[in-house]
Amino acid sequence: MTRRVLIVGGVAGGASAAARLRRLDERAEIVLFDRGPHVSFANCGLPYYVGDVITDERRLLVASRELFRDRFNIDVQTEHEVTGIDRATQTVRVKDLRAGAEHDEHYDVLVLAPGAAPIRPAARGLDLPGVFVVRTIPDTQRIRAWLEERPRREAVVVGGGFIGLEMAENLVRRGLEVTVLEKLPQVMPPVDPEMAAEIARHLRTEGVQLRLGEGFRDIEPATGDRLAVRTDRDATITTDLVILALGVRPEAALAQAAGLAIGARGGIVVDERMRTSDPKIYAVGDAVEVRDVIIGQEIILPLAGPANRQGRVAAEAIAGRWARFRGVQATAIVSVLDLTVATTGASEKGLRRAGVTDFGAIYLHPGHHAGYYPGATPIHLKLLYSREDGRILGAQAVGQEGIDKRIDVIATMIQMRGTVHDLAEVELCYAPQFGAAKDPINIAGMMAANALRGDMPLADWTQVGRRGAVLLDVREPDEFAHGHLEGAVNLPLSELRRRIDDVPRGREIWVYCAAGQRAYYAQRLLMQLGLDVKNLSGGFTTYTMMREAGLLP
Ligand SMILES: Cc1cc2nc3c(=O)[nH]c(=O)nc-3n(C[C@H](O)[C@H](O)[C@H](O)COP(=O)(O)OP(=O)(O)OC[C@H]3O[C@@H](n4cnc5c(N)ncnc54)[C@H](O)[C@@H]3O)c2cc1C
Repeated sequence: MTRRVLIVGGVAGGASAAARLRRLDERAEIVLFDRGPHVSFANCGLPYYVGDVITDERRLLVASRELFRDRFNIDVQTEHEVTGIDRATQTVRVKDLRAGAEHDEHYDVLVLAPGAAPIRPAARGLDLPGVFVVRTIPDTQRIRAWLEERPRREAVVVGGGFIGLEMAENLVRRGLEVTVLEKLPQVMPPVDPEMAAEIARHLRTEGVQLRLGEGFRDIEPATGDRLAVRTDRDATITTDLVILALGVRPEAALAQAAGLAIGARGGIVVDERMRTSDPKIYAVGDAVEVRDVIIGQEIILPLAGPANRQGRVAAEAIAGRWARFRGVQATAIVSVLDLTVATTGASEKGLRRAGVTDFGAIYLHPGHHAGYYPGATPIHLKLLYSREDGRILGAQAVGQEGIDKRIDVIATMIQMRGTVHDLAEVELCYAPQFGAAKDPINIAGMMAANALRGDMPLADWTQVGRRGAVLLDVREPDEFAHGHLEGAVNLPLSELRRRIDDVPRGREIWVYCAAGQRAYYAQRLLMQLGLDVKNLSGGFTTYTMMREAGLLP
């Protein structure tokens, strides 16, 4: 018997579900509705179309209506909005947005993949000309038209998350002076503040005005067709263009109106086969809540990879195969004006929010490849692990090169429930232009393993100056003279053995250097003499990041 499978939303999740289902079931009748003019377009490429990195709009169209028809026998109906679901009769109400007519369509199975909509606060001025969100190709066409209509000099991006920063980068590329307004005290909320501080520093160096800890209030028209953005600190920023990038909200209204279960985060509730509370209806992508495998809670994770995988799982389940969605660990990456930040697993603040306390954190700042080969640039890497069993809980990295590789390796390890001992042992490719014989990944694993074994007890950065420990700086005097922790004693590693009697006794010693290596050598030496020594992980480099993030006393 031919089954009728209707799919609402034809981009990452919906298009994946449709194409996979066709590969598994040649007889199913598959109809895909999207209210927009395109299906299967590259949302992730949109900021780069605004920035003119992608110049040909057609390159954003991954697959067309015709391709779906000819290659997969899938009926794609663009500019058709599904406005209601009647579960009793198994029908959806469809509105043809061009003709205005409405009709009902019967389904045997329904897949909801409506995505997430940009958050629009209840504020004045959001509909003024020159105020934009970035979700669809038409959104970017409007922004490009606005930029091309007449010279525009300034832009305000509201929101310092992934999309906000990508838009900031691309507007800078277009020659605009950009201000980013972010309510939180840091950019990039998924990463910890000290890692985000590095991005903030870079943005400011590149001329972006960052206003952190300052929220958006509303927008008023200003002279000409300029706009006045008002902030919650009663400041006004006059500008030519406003991008609203305050995050997204699951498009769950259709599901909610149909009585499907909605979770605490506002997403559609699904099981591990992507089935909603109605077994005839599946849901995938940004609209659903998914289990975070690290903290064991349901979250909203609006990313393309999970949406694609969920579409595939739903298709497998519809075709009667056994498949399950494993959950997410929030692996993500963004590049901002040549600085890359990536994350996988939990952040430290995420762990604390979830009530996890028995974890360790190490920092390292190695070059992205062997130091002797020209062109190495630093990677700032933070690794979080369980102190109970060494399991990797998360990692974040910031730098110019090699960030994706390191975070992807750690992400894979997390998928396999790997430990820091696995990281220490993992065998990675090496030639001097790519990495190091002991790759930063191996070193991160070794450091965390050292901490777990008690070979390298760690001090808590946020307790510097509070615990009454001796701060021992083992860098050379010229480095010390350039800046050091308040109250620190300078005793360079190169003189430590000779001047061992100068080491203060009877108190805990917290040792640090520039990035952690010399401090570790000093720590091992002093610990073997019976001293109580802790390591300030990542040294003065971490200190600088912490201080910039306002985390230190
Ligand atoms: C500017 C931008 C940049 C991004 N960059 C990245 C990135 O670099 N990496 C990454 O992992 N993720 C990125 N994302 C997120 C990623 O695009 C989404 O996670 C992914 O597209 C979600 O897929 P989806 O199928 O759930 O929803 P969507 O891709 O949003 O598709 C949903 C579709 O459903 C349609 N629809 C909704 N309701 C109805 C209805 N009632 N009737 C008919 N049609 C309907 C919508 O018009 C839309 O076309 C980015 C997103 C944006 C907007």
